[in-house]
Amino acid sequence: MPQEIDPLIPPNGDEKVLLHSCCAPCAGDLMERMKNDGIDLTIFFYNPNIHPKKEYEIRKNENKRFADELGVPFVDADYDVQNWFKRAKGMEFEPERGIRCTMCFDMRFERTALHAWENGFSTFTSSLGISRWKNMEQINDCGVRAAGHYDGLTYWTYNWRKGGGANRMYEIAKRENFYQQEYCGCIFSLRDTNDWREKNGRDAIEIGEKFYEEKIRPPAA
Ligand code: SF4
Repeated sequence: MPQEIDPLIPPNGDEKVLLHSCCAPCAGDLMERMKNDGIDLTIFFYNPNIHPKKEYEIRKNENKRFADELGVPFVDADYDVQNWFKRAKGMEFEPERGIRCTMCFDMRFERTALHAWENGFSTFTSSLGISRWKNMEQINDCGVRAAGHYDGLTYWTYNWRKGGGANRMYEIAKRENFYQQEYCGCIFSLRDTNDWREKNGRDAIEIGEKFYEEKIRPPAA
């Protein structure tokens, strides 16, 4: 029997939410839940951390495909990757969950907060925190900091993992046969993941090859 899920209630009873999405697998459950609970959501895809461009395009297109399926507006923001590299300078060898990641969340949320402010949203949140590989407190701190730049703007610090969210994320990813990214996103996380794989006798990551159901998707028409 499917688990009962409490209905989502955004802060301040807001009915409109801007959802910063990092990728389709992480955002899938948030998107379905918000949609089912009657929240007027818009996806904001701003992830200049993702490298190389091929990986960025695949992740973005997967997310857009699902948004279109659900009838959710999708804002395709800039890929200002040069800016991201400028901000990451000197942090190339920082570990995951460290200061480079704080910079990365700050950058993405600053841009999301600006879009929210300019487009009449008073609440925004992010799919980033659903992954068990991430530090939710670190993400929430960055979201709250970004929202703090604008009067009346709130970052929704909901724990998306609870109530079965972490499991549903995988169920939806399999059902939709989403592309399965195998590293966090930046070139440094790709390098570190490949180093780990090499030490553990595994092949290097092949961009664009792995899907949750291991089916090869035909090229888009
Ligand atoms: S590891 Fe992930 S969160 Fe950290 S800087 Fe790289 S892309 Fe951003």
